[in-house]
This record gives sequence, C-alpha cells and structure tokens, in this order.
Amino acid sequence: EPRLSIGKTGGPAATIRGVTTDFPAATILGYPRIGPGRELKHALESYWAGRTGRAALEEAGRRLRAQTWARLHELGLRAPGALPSNTFSQYDHVLDAAVAVGAVPERYRGAADPYFAMARGADGLPPLRMTKWFDTNYHYIVPEIGPRTAFAASPDKPLAELAEARALGHATRPVLLGPVTLLRLARAAPGAPGGFSPLDRLDDLLDVYGELLSALAPHAAWVQLDEPIAVVDGGSPALRHAYRRLAALTARPRLLVATYFGDAGDALPALAVAPVDGIAVDLTHGVPRNLGLFEGRTIVGGVVSGRDVWRTDPDAARALLAAAGATAVGTSCSLLHVPYTLRGESALPESSKAASPESSEPASPESSKAASPESSEPAGRESSKAGLPEGLAFAEEKVAEVVSLAALGPKEGPLPQRPRAAGTLGVESRAPYAAREQAQRDLGLPPLPVTTIGSFPQTGELRAARAAVAAGRLPLAGYEARIEEEIARVIAEQEALGLDVLVHGEPERNDMVQYFAEHLDGFAVTRNGWVQSYGSRCTRPPILHGDVRRPAPITVRWATHAQSLTARPVKGMLTGPVTIVAWSFVRPDLPLRDVTLQVADAVREEVRDLQAAGIRIIQVDEPALRELLPLRKEEQEEYLAWAVAAYRRATSAASPGTQIHTHLCYSDAAEVLSAVDALDADVTSIEAARSAFAVAGFDRGIGPGVYDIHSPRVPERDEIESRLRAALATIHPSRLWVNPDCGLKTRTYDEVRAALSNVVAAAGAVRQSV
Ligand code: GLN
Ligand code: ZN
Repeated sequence: EPRLSIGKTGGPAATIRGVTTDFPAATILGYPRIGPGRELKHALESYWAGRTGRAALEEAGRRLRAQTWARLHELGLRAPGALPSNTFSQYDHVLDAAVAVGAVPERYRGAADPYFAMARGADGLPPLRMTKWFDTNYHYIVPEIGPRTAFAASPDKPLAELAEARALGHATRPVLLGPVTLLRLARAAPGAPGGFSPLDRLDDLLDVYGELLSALAPHAAWVQLDEPIAVVDGGSPALRHAYRRLAALTARPRLLVATYFGDAGDALPALAVAPVDGIAVDLTHGVPRNLGLFEGRTIVGGVVSGRDVWRTDPDAARALLAAAGATAVGTSCSLLHVPYTLRGESALPESSKAASPESSEPASPESSKAASPESSEPAGRESSKAGLPEGLAFAEEKVAEVVSLAALGPKEGPLPQRPRAAGTLGVESRAPYAAREQAQRDLGLPPLPVTTIGSFPQTGELRAARAAVAAGRLPLAGYEARIEEEIARVIAEQEALGLDVLVHGEPERNDMVQYFAEHLDGFAVTRNGWVQSYGSRCTRPPILHGDVRRPAPITVRWATHAQSLTARPVKGMLTGPVTIVAWSFVRPDLPLRDVTLQVADAVREEVRDLQAAGIRIIQVDEPALRELLPLRKEEQEEYLAWAVAAYRRATSAASPGTQIHTHLCYSDAAEVLSAVDALDADVTSIEAARSAFAVAGFDRGIGPGVYDIHSPRVPERDEIESRLRAALATIHPSRLWVNPDCGLKTRTYDEVRAALSNVVAAAGAVRQSV
C-alpha cells in the first residue's frame, strides 16, 4: 500500500493517508508574464514613449492574464486554487509587494506615475536600485524601508486579479512575497540611523500582512507566501516569529509558505512550529531535512525545475515525491525563469538557422551555423543535436509534466543523484607576474594607459543589417564588409581621441554570450526563448546541451582586421567561461564545473589563435563571476575554486609577453575579491571608481572605471582627474589603468566622443605629475 496518494488532476484534492486536504494535487508557483510574444514589453515601451495611455497598458495586462489562466487551465491546472494569481506584474513583483504594504518612499509620491518612477526614475528623480533576484538572472527593484516608513495595506492588486480570474471561471490562489523575504531584500532608507535594519520593522509589517490576508480571506481558500530567503537564512528567528503571528490570525485563508532556490531544511523547524497549512519545497536539490515535521499538512513537492529547460525524469520525480512525503506536485519555483513554450521552436536541432525576422537581435549571420547559402556546415555537426527538442521543456511543457506527475503520484524508487565533480582540479599557472610585466614592456604603453571595455555604440543600421542578412535580403559578404567598415570607423575614432589600447568595438556581436554560443559546438539558440531579465528587458539564453568544442576561430578575423589598421595595440575581446555558462541554460548531466572547464578549453583555443595572429593584449570578460556564487556560504569556496581554475585554464595559453585583461561589472566585490586576485590577470577593470579602497593591495594592473557608462551624462575632465588622483593614493602609478566602467554599446557616439575626450585629457594631466 503506498504511503500516500495524490489525487487525479482536476479530480479530488490530495489525499494523505486517507485524509483529504483541500489543496490541489498539481500546481505551479508562478508563471512568466512578459507574454509569449513579449506583448507586455511592447505595451510598456509604447506607454513609456507616450504613444499609448494607461488604459492600453492595463488592457494589455488584462489580456495576458486571461490568456495565461486559460492556457494553464487547458494544460490541466483545473482544481480550485491550482492557478496562481497576483503573479503578473507590470514591472517587478518585489516592487508590487512594496506597493502592497505602502513602502513607497515619500520622494516618489508626487510623481505623475509613482510606480514607474520607482522602477525607472522620472523628472530628475533617480529610480530605486535594482539587483539580482537570488542567484537567477532576474533583477528586482530594491525596496527602501526606514524607521518611519508608513506601512499601509493596499490589497487592490491581488483582489482585482482574484476577481478578474473569478469572472473568467477560475478560483485562483493569490501569491504574495512573504514579509521576511521582503524585509531581507529591502535596504535601509537613506537617512536611516546607522544600525537600522529593515528587519527591525517586522512587527509593523506583520500587522499589514494580517490586513492583506484578511482582505483576501473571503475570496481565496489558499494564499501563497513566497519566502525564498528561507533557503539562505534558514534558522532565522524572524521566520519563526513571522509565521507564528500570521498563522495565529483568526480571519485568514490557508497559508502555503513557498521556499525555493535550494534546500530549505534549516528553515523547516521554524515554519513547522507555526500552524501554517502547507509548505512548498524545492526538491531539485534533493529532499530537505525535517520535512517529517509537516506530516499531516500540505507538502508541495517541487520536482519540476523552474530554473532550467530540461525535461523531468518521471521515475526520479516520483521517487522524490515519495521520499518527501509530498501531497501535491509543483514546480521548484516560479516558471518566470524559463521561456514560454517549445511550440514554434521546430528549428531547434538546426538551432540558429536564421532567427525570426521580428526578433530584435537575430542570430549572428556570419555564424557558421547560420542558414545562409555561404555557410559551410561541417558534416555531422548537427547530428549531435538531433532530438534536442525532445529533451527540452519550457514553461508550458513543464506545466504538463506537473499535471502528469500528479496523476501518476509518488512511487518509491532510487533518488536521482546530482552529478558530482570528481577528480582534482588542476590550476594552471602562467609565468610569475614580474616576468610577465617585464615581457610586456615592449608594448610601449605610457603610464596610466587609456582604454575601453570593448563595445562601441551599436547602431540601428548594424542591427538592421544583421536582420537583413538573416532574412536573406543581404548577402553575407555584404554584411561582413559592413562589419569591417564599422571596425575601421571605431579604430579611427579611438586614434583621433588618443586612446592607448584600442578595441575593435564588437560590432559583430548581438550579445556577448550568444555570439560565442552561436560559434561553438554544443550550444543551440532559440527563436523565441525570451526570459525576463528586468522590467521590459528580456534575454534569450543559449542552451548548452552537448560537449563544447570550438570548430574554428571566432574573433580572430575581426581582431586582426582591427590591428591591421593601426600601429597601436588592439585588445582582443573574449567572453570568459564562467560568464558563458552563467548566461546559458546548461546541461544537467555533467557537473557545472566540468561544463565550465570545457568552455574554458574552447576559450583557450581562441586565446592561442589570437596570440598566434599577433594580438598582444587579450581581454577575457567575466562580468558574471559573482552571479554564480552559491547562495549558501558553505558552498561558495568550492565554486570560487573551480571558477578561478576555469578562468586560468582559458588564459593559460597566453605567453608572458601577451597581456591578459579581465573585466568585472561590479566593484563591491568583497565576497569574491580574493578570487578576482586569483584570476591572475595582468590587468583587471572593474565598475565604479567610488570604491577605490576595494582595490588597494592589488599588485597587478587595475582599472577602476572612471565614469558610469549607464548614464547618458558626460563626465567632466576635472572629476575624472580627481578620481584618478584618489586612485593613486592606493594604487601605484605603474599599475593604474584608465577606462570607463563598462562597455559603451548602450551609448551614442556623441556621448562617447565627449566622455572619452575628457578621459584622455584627464589621464594626460595626471600623467604629468607621476
Ligand atoms: N566587453 C563587453 C562590452 O564592452 C563587456 C560587457 C560587460 O561587462 N557586461 O560590452
Ligand atoms: Zn561591465
């Protein structure tokens, strides 16, 4: 006799040892909201541009919600409470949560549209900060909470979505961000006294959550409270306190606390002492400890991953459900992080055959995988990808998996083993820095050399040319000639400005990861696999599904063309192995470490070929080094060790006379600073000069960005000069480089010329005095 059984989808609710709970047998924790055709993106951008009004934006949202519920219902999420609501957002669900509790900073209240003013800034008012949502590539708006934040419940949005769904015939389960996660993700409001932490306001906030829950109670049987922070700080007294108080409310719906992005074992005792009615756990990391404490309550087993694009093995999933004592089947987290559907991806095995013409960034036409007549496809290349779609599941396919697993129910069996990295990690070393520095003298660089991070503005004309060649309207040779012209223009600009180390400007790249994915074996790219990154911004992550190999040089022709046009050194420009895997969906059958090392080998071949072609300076970007840092402290050291090893492997082919640069997109690198040092790059450029102290003690080349490229503002020569002088307080003049804080591709040529000429002038002035 099975320990428990799960009710048939759409039929009776889950049954635990004969006890029927009223939680549906199948559910998902959340769903993408940008729209299968990025409808929300288009509606937002048209609203922001003033082309359409509020009403059109609201209408677009209403239509997307109705479509989503209808589709999910069709896929089998039919029992009352199986469909989540309030998971739609016009911009960000954390911002929505801040609004729902009244945490709107005073300075935004007078704006014409306070919500978008917080999200994007308005009338000289900078937006709230934005940062990464746990270890995903989604970014949320950071709420500001101070001692005087006047919390007030505004349940309008969850209530309206409930009513809207009800009118369409769906009894939904509203999803709210949990109070502890909200406070832990918030920052102290500017002006808050030192030592204040938003968590100090927990009791006040719980009053407001009490009001939100009682407003929802008459309309919803269950409410889901998302507490992913439980995985990070499991044992925290805040969780215990919060859920004791919320569960003790008299007028409340049943509470499902959703923990995700890892093993919630440490948090379960705190949540179990409170009489919350159910818990959702992420089983893709194994079965957490302490689940037995929830016996007799709803346990949603998150066996279908919301973080990857792979099909779920039904036997392994059923064994996990059995081992966890799950009473319902769910996704490990919201499906926000995966594309909508495989439908329309019929070209996947041949993957990067010209992207759809309406996509804003088509596949790189000169890619050897592109379907242009000129492309010569090495025999057998595609065969490794045959059958790829059958191994994939995007959001819709994952919903179908949840539904069918719920119908099958748990079944004891062997638990899946996550692949573990075996074997020792060899860390490759180049010659000692002193010898490299000596060997690089003949580059003939002045003190405080001026350079850029790689990309120059990408014109609409270039993007149009890419689309034209993808659509067969422009021959490949014509496109390549356009790229060469663009490189010549970028070189001429830099010579005129007086930069010391030039770049080719990256005009051939649609994206710094996708471009490489298109040129490496083992990757596929989708036509329409967009995933929301923040607000209206989406990315189309490549799918790393097979062994990675570099069939042919990728960047060499562009770098050598650039170098042929100038006597100054041109810096070759590559994306590092950690960043390539961080921004892709990665095969699950090998440890991430080993996949990254394969990518490192491919990058190493490119480094070797660039060097052989006479390129003396090569930058290997790792802006995502910190992004992959595991959430749990005890896993961080192991990650950093292999991330460093991968980078060093990628750069180890460089002879002492070849100068290796790296670039990281942040300066607040406290947790990874020693790893950045261990990369052993000859020159490291980082974001924001504000924290020059962070790089004190760095004894190789360092370029703390001298101005912020994310803003259109042109920096004054004086301010750059004073930043450089401040940097010289901690950095030896022979080690200091001068550069913007990131690539220039989002700026205009006018902005770039004005800014860089001030940078060159400032560097020249400071050079006089060292
Ligand atoms: N070389 C890349 C560029 O300049 C680096 C981008 C990044 O750091 N994200 O665009
Ligand atoms: Zn950057």
